[in-house]
Amino acid sequence: MGRDKLDELADAYDAIVIGSGLGGLTAANQLAKSGHKVLLLEQHYQLGGLATWFRRKGGHIFDISLHGFPFGMVKSCRKYWTKEIADSIVQVKDIRFRNPQFNLSTTYDREDFAENLVRLFGVGRNAVERFFSSLGAADFYKDMCLTTRELLERYFPNRPDILRLLMEPIAYANGSTFEDPAHTYALVFSNFMQKGVYIFRGGTDALIRKMVGELERNGAVVRICANVERIAIEDGVVRGVKVGGRFVRAGAVVSNANLKSTVLKLAGPEHFNPGFIKEVEAVRMGSSSTQVYIGLKHGATIPAIGDLIFHSDAPAFSSASLLARKPVSRTFSVYYPDMRPRRGRTTIVSSTNAEYRDWAGLGEEEYQRQKQQLIEDTLVCLEQYIPGVRAMVDHVEAATPRTVESYTQHLFGASFGTKYEGLKVSRDLPAQVRGLFHAGSVGIIMSGWLGTVNYGVIVADRVDRFLHAIKTGRAQPAYAAL
Ligand SMILES: Cc1cc2nc3c(=O)[nH]c(=O)nc-3n(C[C@H](O)[C@H](O)[C@H](O)COP(=O)(O)OP(=O)(O)OC[C@H]3O[C@@H](n4cnc5c(N)ncnc54)[C@H](O)[C@@H]3O)c2cc1C
Repeated sequence: MGRDKLDELADAYDAIVIGSGLGGLTAANQLAKSGHKVLLLEQHYQLGGLATWFRRKGGHIFDISLHGFPFGMVKSCRKYWTKEIADSIVQVKDIRFRNPQFNLSTTYDREDFAENLVRLFGVGRNAVERFFSSLGAADFYKDMCLTTRELLERYFPNRPDILRLLMEPIAYANGSTFEDPAHTYALVFSNFMQKGVYIFRGGTDALIRKMVGELERNGAVVRICANVERIAIEDGVVRGVKVGGRFVRAGAVVSNANLKSTVLKLAGPEHFNPGFIKEVEAVRMGSSSTQVYIGLKHGATIPAIGDLIFHSDAPAFSSASLLARKPVSRTFSVYYPDMRPRRGRTTIVSSTNAEYRDWAGLGEEEYQRQKQQLIEDTLVCLEQYIPGVRAMVDHVEAATPRTVESYTQHLFGASFGTKYEGLKVSRDLPAQVRGLFHAGSVGIIMSGWLGTVNYGVIVADRVDRFLHAIKTGRAQPAYAAL
């Protein structure tokens, strides 16, 4: 039966997962593997959430969020998905920075990074080692007030060039800023420093196909075009969901949808205590993105210009300049033909962090004009790396925060979920409504491909214990902090 058909669903499941982002897929898979009867409902016709791709005439496939993740993804995919998936993860070896302060090429791992800091930036080896050691220090994690800027300036005072080197890639990776808690920076940066940056060879389409295949082999039922309208709650307990005009019962509901929408729209504020609702309302969403997708003609070859380029014309790094309405900074992810060997195509995806408000209010004509301008500015920038690239372009188009919003229903088109305070709200959900859980990008550290996969596992474990307690007739388990 088709994945887009809602009739013939069972009346009840142990767990219903709303949303098929990497957090939702992973939570569903873990629960199915534990023997629970699982239903996964995705509103879009494509599975994967922001881990997605699209096809265009001429044989082009564009990846949206496959620019890089830490090595930890290999371990997580091997343990929680399959060896085959883990084995397709490969290193992005040539990462380049080009800006008015420095030009360099790196593998973005601890050894190479330390070498660059010493050789190119003139920092003493001991100072570099002290910085790296501090990232794992226990007392530092307890210091919730320390900002990322304070941490970095503690080790590299009066060195805006080094702060740029340390911060720019992380700001692109999860939208975080100098003002976010230092420990979120330390965790994400350390994850990358472990062994560098990795991607999935074969593309996002191949990854999601393999994940969904595994999920269904483990017995989960998957439905697309299935917009959950409501999470049904009675007397503080989850009863199921309303989807496509029908009610499906469940012992537990895991929402992979936007955290604030889960509480305020899908569940409804009336089911939570007022203090909690205040916390939810205060949660800030992270920034959004614009992207330009460039597909080169079949057979067009380009020189090796790097795999991932952090380009900026801004004299110094600042979070504000990274979000500028007219981008002065962008990344280029270059997918050479070996990414999808059978297709023989080169594609280049340019990404910038962006503010939803800069795009939300534009009338249709102005919106289209701004998108064209974004494309033009991106091609002008790319010509610095590939002279004559325009003649090779077969397809080009742009996406904006509005695209992200309409695709995933994330508030303000957030690319990386919520700021740090969202993590507590997400974790506290089941203490408010019995059987209601959230697994998706929150709190900076539970964001990105690796963060959401790992968060899906953590939440699935909680749900498993909850369902086990129901099935064995034991009392509601205590909700220990994650
Ligand atoms: C432009 C861009 C570039 C990125 N680059 C990288 C990168 O290089 N590396 C990296 O690690 N991360 C990157 N990310 C972030 C990463 O893609 C996300 O953090 C991660 O994929 C989010 O997973 P998630 O589980 O939070 O769910 P999401 O991907 O947000 O998915 C949520 C799902 O829920 C569905 N949904 C919502 N409401 C409903 C409903 N009512 N009923 C049914 N379904 C519903 C949505 O349709 C969606 O499929 C990038 C993100 C963007 C936007």
